[in-house]
Amino acid sequence: MKQVLALAAVLVVAGVALYYAQHKRHADAVSANAVIDMAADWQRDVSRVPLRVTRISDEKEQVIGDELARQYESEESAKGPEERATEHYIERIGKRVAGHAQRKSTWRFHLIADANLINAFALPGGHVFVGQGLLDRITSEDELAFVLGHEIEHIDHYHAVERVQIEAQLKELNLDAVAALAQIPITLWQTGYSKDEEMEADREGLRLASAAGYSATGAVNLLERWTRLRREYVIHAETPTEELSQLAIDSLQGYFRSHPLPSERLAQANEVIAHDHLSTNRPLKPFHVEYEITASQR
Ligand SMILES: [Zn+2]
Repeated sequence: MKQVLALAAVLVVAGVALYYAQHKRHADAVSANAVIDMAADWQRDVSRVPLRVTRISDEKEQVIGDELARQYESEESAKGPEERATEHYIERIGKRVAGHAQRKSTWRFHLIADANLINAFALPGGHVFVGQGLLDRITSEDELAFVLGHEIEHIDHYHAVERVQIEAQLKELNLDAVAALAQIPITLWQTGYSKDEEMEADREGLRLASAAGYSATGAVNLLERWTRLRREYVIHAETPTEELSQLAIDSLQGYFRSHPLPSERLAQANEVIAHDHLSTNRPLKPFHVEYEITASQR
């Protein structure tokens, strides 16, 4: 009976996600919290379903991830020169960090050019997406390396592909039917993972960024900033220090509801730094995107 209920709940979730997908990203942004609620329900239901996990091959994961990323990107408007430069920058830092991952995926890093999107997510097969709104709150390359390391680890530790396996089991999809698997709503990857998976991605992402030569102070600074933003915009214990649009606030609140408390994440980061003797005194690299606008692009 529980399984029937879980399946029914997932089908409802899928229907809602499809609705939002059809109403494009404007609706997504407006309803960030509704989407988070939906994903939280999905998490609860999935936790009750016993899984006989059949691992998907790396090759199949790549095909499914490529197709999900292609569909998502086809809904995006074309990027201008500044946005393309930002994407190249993310890609350069991402590949440097991913070079230390255990899995050898074809890593791809994408910018979502939406200043109200304060989030990042990872798809199966090595695709990492970062919202412009998140980048706007970053002050060093070391912080970006931690953000990307965290997302890379959701792929490296099979969190991203396990969602395909779970969905396949819940909806009785054939794991060989790649086209059907690529229709799984992308919302399932956009809204965060279980607390254990988020904490694991933080630990391993911090180690990855550090192995790539970045200062662990980047992670500390970012998690301290998240702690402050949560005090300002979620628990309203302080007056906000920056002006955010309502869409950005919705996105930020959704981010905090789908992730462990930033204070807990910060405490864990400090434990990892002490335990692994990670470097915190490397100089922070500035967050710096270089681009030129040629006459034809003006
Ligand atoms: Zn995460």
